[in-house]
Amino acid sequence: MYDDNNIFAKIIDGKMPCKKIYEDKDVLFFEDINPVSKVHILGIPKVKCVDFSEFVLKYDQNIVANFFQKVEVVIEKLGIKESGFRIISNSGADGGQEVPHFHIHILGGEKIGSKIR
Ligand code: 5GP
Repeated sequence: MYDDNNIFAKIIDGKMPCKKIYEDKDVLFFEDINPVSKVHILGIPKVKCVDFSEFVLKYDQNIVANFFQKVEVVIEKLGIKESGFRIISNSGADGGQEVPHFHIHILGGEKIGSKIR
């Protein structure tokens, strides 16, 4: 069950500030408030979905494909395509997901090593 009061829903609605990297009507990418690497960006679709499985299974494939294509746009914009990066999506209790709105972490700007945020 989606929680309309989760922090990323508030960020999408403009009720909470964030440092935006890229936004359009479907997606938002912004800096993580507690970065674990030089580049640490969060990417979210603007649909009500709790986690990866819900996003992929519940939403039209055009919405899903568009989100991941925008990830590619952001990686290019951040200038980390050549140096490399890590994409992570935590899901559920074992995955350590804290915010119940599907999101991906993009880590880069340095060697990520064992950081598994
Ligand atoms: P999760 O553990 O759910 O995959 O990751 C949630 C991420 O959201 C964490 O890396 C945390 O630092 C970040 N975060 C939590 N609250 C806020 C906030 O209010 N603003 C921003 N920009 N990031 C947040």
